[in-house]
Amino acid sequence: MQLPRGVLVGEGVLEELPEFLSRLGLRGRCLLVTGKSTRKVAGERVEEILEEHSPEMLTVESATREEVERVVGEARRSGACFLLGVGGGKVIDVAKLSASVLGLEFISIPTAASHDGIASSMASVRSNGVAVSENAVAPLGIVADTSIIASAPRRLTASGFGDAIAKLTATMDWELAHRVLGEEVSEYSIALSRMSARIALRSCGEANTAAGVRRLVKALISCGVAMSIAGSSRPGSGAEHKFSHALDMIAEKPALHGEQVGVGSIICMYLHGGEWWRIKSALSRAGAPVCAEELGVESREVVLALLEARRVKPERYTIIEHVNLSREVAEKAARATGVIE
Ligand SMILES: [Zn+2]
Repeated sequence: MQLPRGVLVGEGVLEELPEFLSRLGLRGRCLLVTGKSTRKVAGERVEEILEEHSPEMLTVESATREEVERVVGEARRSGACFLLGVGGGKVIDVAKLSASVLGLEFISIPTAASHDGIASSMASVRSNGVAVSENAVAPLGIVADTSIIASAPRRLTASGFGDAIAKLTATMDWELAHRVLGEEVSEYSIALSRMSARIALRSCGEANTAAGVRRLVKALISCGVAMSIAGSSRPGSGAEHKFSHALDMIAEKPALHGEQVGVGSIICMYLHGGEWWRIKSALSRAGAPVCAEELGVESREVVLALLEARRVKPERYTIIEHVNLSREVAEKAARATGVIE
């Protein structure tokens, strides 16, 4: 079990970073990985306050294998003792995977709460145009300054609510695999993941307030911890995630990860026979998309992604495999939930 050893959440906590690092026993040079726009939002401030660690700052453009190689090369050249990822999901994924390759510790400093990657050991990077999810290192520490996160674009926060709420169907899928196939489950990680989803569900109406953002950040961190406890993404990723990965490959213009898994979760809850309308109304309150049109994808792309979801992680048994999803049922579920017209 790999878990973060320190978590700081709150307004202005970025300023506590130097003491936080010394409490975690991190000394020496560090490499600061940031993004093009998040560099100004927080990267430069981190560089300033960590003067004693003589940070070198590197800006990454996308979450690709090439960017990971570039960060690894730069960390070796500069003799970095640990890595910091200051930015959104892509930046954090690149920094996390690079730290894993280097065998160095990694600190996650999210500037947005768009998905659970801010705290998990999983990272998603593109290799030859295809996104692959890999097991990397869990961050040793997380510093989530909610005053920075609350000023991130609203679309990112809404997407984070989608990723957190999607754990409702992800955990049902795992229990299903346990009942049907006898797959081993971790009750503790299921309980933690489900609780995080429920907290997010209840906080949807406050998506644009500091309190709502703080609850979302905590929910996403708990989801990441649940996956670390399970040692896999199972408690956080079921059929709705397979649907989202399929949509990434199919759609001309895919939406954000959390937006897609949120919509996927509505359909999957319908297939499970659960209260899908509760997920739908919560996502609406958070300002997240609830149908193909709002996602900016075609109805036929949604149906195709539902059918292709089975090819993504075929070893992961979910409601889609369980109902042996046909085109007819996929269309019916998408129509009944109002995801397509
Ligand atoms: Zn996710």
